[in-house]
Amino acid sequence: MEQITLDHVVPEDYDALVCGGGAGGLLTSLALTESGKRVLVLEKQDRLGGVWHGYWVGSYRVDQGLHVITRVKRGAFSRFIREYLHPPPEFVLHDGWYFRVHDRVGTIPSSIGQTLRWPLTGMRGRLGLARIGAKIKTMKLEEMKKYKDISFLEFMENEGATNQVMLDVMQSAIYMAAGVPISEASAYEALRTLKDTDKESSKLQSAKSLLLGTSEYDEGYIIGGMEGLVKRVVNAIEGSYVLNAEVQAIHSNGSRVSGVTAGGRHLSHSQVVSNIPLWAMPGIVSSDDPKVSTFFSEWSHMQPTRGITLWLGLDKVVLGDRKNRVLVHPNPNRWIVSVSSFDPTCAPEGKELVAVAMMAIPGKSVEEQLEIMKGNGFETYYPEVLEHVEMEHVQTSYATRAALIPGQTDLDRPGPRTPLRGLYIVGTDTAGSGVGLQQAAQSAEGAVAAILEDMQALP
Ligand SMILES: Cc1cc2nc3c(=O)[nH]c(=O)nc-3n(C[C@H](O)[C@H](O)[C@H](O)COP(=O)(O)OP(=O)(O)OC[C@H]3O[C@@H](n4cnc5c(N)ncnc54)[C@H](O)[C@@H]3O)c2cc1C
Repeated sequence: MEQITLDHVVPEDYDALVCGGGAGGLLTSLALTESGKRVLVLEKQDRLGGVWHGYWVGSYRVDQGLHVITRVKRGAFSRFIREYLHPPPEFVLHDGWYFRVHDRVGTIPSSIGQTLRWPLTGMRGRLGLARIGAKIKTMKLEEMKKYKDISFLEFMENEGATNQVMLDVMQSAIYMAAGVPISEASAYEALRTLKDTDKESSKLQSAKSLLLGTSEYDEGYIIGGMEGLVKRVVNAIEGSYVLNAEVQAIHSNGSRVSGVTAGGRHLSHSQVVSNIPLWAMPGIVSSDDPKVSTFFSEWSHMQPTRGITLWLGLDKVVLGDRKNRVLVHPNPNRWIVSVSSFDPTCAPEGKELVAVAMMAIPGKSVEEQLEIMKGNGFETYYPEVLEHVEMEHVQTSYATRAALIPGQTDLDRPGPRTPLRGLYIVGTDTAGSGVGLQQAAQSAEGAVAAILEDMQALP
């Protein structure tokens, strides 16, 4: 894609206008390119990618957020980058999860045998975990759906599974998917995360992994970080983009979209893809049709997940491995990864880049949260990390636009079509299961299928 300015835009040169160049908008554009279409991306910020981006802080390259690709080998996001980027990007897989509960460390038990030897609780806790673990591993998706409107904590209490250490470890795992505490996360989404529903397709496979466990980790970092990946995606798209071009209005003519106003300029078009968060859409879509305004106000309630990430550049290698470390106790949960051990290009030679991520704590200032991140056991278990800090950088943001809470599960999403013909919505609050980039990729897959189908049906 080439960058142009608004005064050079000729709308008829493009097959679709894409409002917003976040993951949803860019991946939709990438798939449209593969179908021979040209797009114009209108982005309100001075860069593309939305919350999906990376940048340099001195001689360290950080991502916005501790960006682990949660499906490297399978799923919609990996399909996109493997099929549309040539050669496909290189990933380095994680070495596993290590949960610390005070001075004990354990991985996720993946079989009954491992559960019964789990070092983080006593025998009663282990038996409880084995029972609930077996129930979750053999539960069918249809049964999980029944629990979409209750929290995971309620589900566990109803099952009598209330061992606190077990709940806290599950909280650490589910936070990555739901972005909220287990008292708020939808039980359906939490169960899907724990069972990893798109991996286990048959009863036989479930039973096998229940008994024998699995050592497969389908999570990793990408060489070149998010900065490199977004650049490659942008380069592969056919069309143009305009930065600092906020879309102020999406117009309609009867039941069809007719164009947009961006940066004060009206651009007529009959195919518009919106990657704008649903919470902003009621103020942007203009239509006399009450069906349209009802649709957008109904879907504007989505609550995002909020994270805080602390990047530490160390003047020597201290951790030096590819473990996913989670501090479960003392609370609150923090996730610690030596990012330069995956991709040495993000730190100067002989130095280390470590990321510490936490769910944002409402009502606390960034400074207070930083103190909590570096204290509460971090100084006890990783004192050497804190002694060698030469670069410190903090980020806060929404990570995904729809926390997986009741009313916002993948069963409660509106996209990709809207009541306005020719207007499609993409992004993490519109469609798709999974988290973050997977969700954005699924929404893009759905939108592209709908756009191509509707284009074919046009007279
Ligand atoms: C801290 C953090 C950690 C993360 N960790 C992971 C991870 O480990 N694994 C993972 O898979 N994902 C992760 N993600 C999530 C993933 O990056 C996001 O969920 C995904 O990028 C969101 O894409 P989106 O399309 O929904 O939206 P957005 O990024 O919100 O994109 C929307 C775009 O539209 C633009 N826009 C908005 N309004 C307008 C307007 N009126 N006119 C024009 N443009 C407009 C915005 O500027 C933006 O560019 C993380 C994100 C963060 C921030």
